Amino acid sequence: MTDLFDFHKQKRCFAVVGHPVAHSKSPQIHEDFARQCGVSLSYEAIALDPGAFEQGVRNIRAGGIAGANVTVPFKQAAWRLADKLTDRAQLAQAVNTLSFSAGDVIHGDNTDGVGLMRDIQKNLGFSCAGARVLVVGAGGAARGIFQPLLDSSPGELVIANRTLSRARELLAAFASPIGSTVCNLEDLSSTAFDLVINATAASLMGEVPNLPNGIFANGALAYDLAYADQPTPFMRWAMDAGAVRAVDGLGMLVEQAAESFWIWHQHRPQTAPVISALRSGSR
Ligand code: NAP
Repeated sequence: MTDLFDFHKQKRCFAVVGHPVAHSKSPQIHEDFARQCGVSLSYEAIALDPGAFEQGVRNIRAGGIAGANVTVPFKQAAWRLADKLTDRAQLAQAVNTLSFSAGDVIHGDNTDGVGLMRDIQKNLGFSCAGARVLVVGAGGAARGIFQPLLDSSPGELVIANRTLSRARELLAAFASPIGSTVCNLEDLSSTAFDLVINATAASLMGEVPNLPNGIFANGALAYDLAYADQPTPFMRWAMDAGAVRAVDGLGMLVEQAAESFWIWHQHRPQTAPVISALRSGSR
C-alpha cells in the first residue's frame, strides 16, 4: 500500500491550457515552487482548440493530468465545465484552476483575485482601505478581482468599460454593492483615483484604453494586469498622465500560481524569489 510519504514523492502532472499558451510563464513558476517545496511534478503548457475546450480538458485528464490552470480565452468555459465551484469562482463566473479528483468530479476555483490583492497589498505595500479605486475593463479578469477588491474596504470602487452594458452586468452579478458604480471610459474625466487597475486586454494588442488625463490622484498607483518584458503601453501612458508608480501583472501571475499550488499540493511556496528571478530574466 502507498503510504503518505510515497504519495508526496509520486510525480503528478499539471498543465496550463489556453490559446495561445506557448508564451506562458506558468510552467517555470510551478517548477520553481516544486523545487522549493520538495514536490515532485511535471507541468506543461497545452494549447487547446478554442472550439473544443471541453473535449480538450477531458483528453488531458484521460492522459493523466491531475490539475490545470486555465488562461485566455477559456476561463468562462472552465466555469461552465466545472462540477463543483468555490464561492469565489461562482461569483466571478470564471475559473483559472481545475482539479481532477478520483471519480468524474471536476473542481473549479479562481485564484486571480487573491493573487492581485497579495501583489498590491503585500508585495507593493499599497493599502486599498479607504482608497478610490478604478477598474478599467469588465471581462473575466475584472470579475475575478472585483469581490477581493470590495473586501479590502475601498472608499470608492468604479468599474469603467468600453461597453457599458458589460460593466452593468458585472455589477448586477455582485448585487450592486454600496460604494460601487459603473461608467463609460469617457465619463471618468471629473474623478481622480488612488489606484487605477487596467483589467482590459488592450495591452495584449499594444493599445491603451481611451482614458482621459486627470484620473490619477497625487501618489496614485497604476497597475496593469498584463505583463511583458518591457513596460506595457498602459504603464507608459500612466506615468505620462500623472501616476507616481506603474506596475505590471507579473507579481499577480506568481501570486495566483502560488494559490493554485496550495490547492493542489497544500504547500505555500515563497513568491518573492520567483518574482525576482522572472524580473531579472534568470528564469
Ligand atoms: P476578456 O474577458 O477578453 O475581457 C477583455 C476586456 O478588455 C473587456 O472589458 C474589453 O472591453 C476590454 N478591452 C479590450 N480591448 C480594449 C481596448 N482597446 N480598449 C478598451 N477596452 C478594451 O479578457 P480577461 O480575461 O478579462 O483578461 C484581461 C487582461 O488581464 C489580459 O491582458 C490578461 O492577460 C490579463 N490577466 C492577467 C492575469 C495575471 O495573473 N497577471 C490574470 C488574469 C488576466 P469590451 O467589453 O468593451 O470588449
